[in-house]
Amino acid sequence: MPAPAGLGTPLASVPADAAISLALQLESVTEGVLVTVTATAPVAAECARCLEPFQQMTDVRFQELFSYQSVSYPPAEDGEDGYALHGDLLDLEPALRDALVLALPLAPLCRPDCPGLCPDCGVPLAEAGSDHSHEHIDPRWAALRGVVTRNGPDGPTRSASS
Ligand SMILES: [Zn+2]
Ligand SMILES: [Zn+2]
Repeated sequence: MPAPAGLGTPLASVPADAAISLALQLESVTEGVLVTVTATAPVAAECARCLEPFQQMTDVRFQELFSYQSVSYPPAEDGEDGYALHGDLLDLEPALRDALVLALPLAPLCRPDCPGLCPDCGVPLAEAGSDHSHEHIDPRWAALRGVVTRNGPDGPTRSASS
C-alpha cells in the first residue's frame, strides 16, 4: 500500500506514497476479526549525531482485534478502546500508523558507530577522519602564544632585515 502522509516524527518518517509491504493474517474469533500484520516500510531519517539524511527499512509486527461492535461511540481513533469493524470492512490505517510510529527510532543513527560532528567546527567526523582535531590552548598559557609568535624565527628576523 502507499504510505499515508504525515507518518513519522521530525527525525524519522515514512515518505508519503512510499510502498509499505504488508503481510496480513485475518482470523475469525468470537468478538470479531483478529488481524496479525507484518509491515515493512522504507524510512527516511536524519542521523541524530551527524545530521546526515539516510534511508533504512523498518519492520513492525502487531496484532489487533477489530470488534463486531464499537466499544465506545464515536469509535476510538487511537486504539485505546480497540478498533471496530465497519460492517464487513475494517480500517487498518490507524492501527498501522500507531504501530509504525512506535517502531521508528527516536534517535536514528546512520550507522551504529557514527562519530557525529566535531564539537569545535561542526564538520562530520566520519568525513574529516580520525586525526581531525583542534589545538586547544590552556587559557592560562594563551597569552604566551602571542609572545612566541612575535619572537619566533620569522618575527624579529624579518623585521630586522627590512
Ligand atoms: Zn551519522
Ligand atoms: Zn573540527
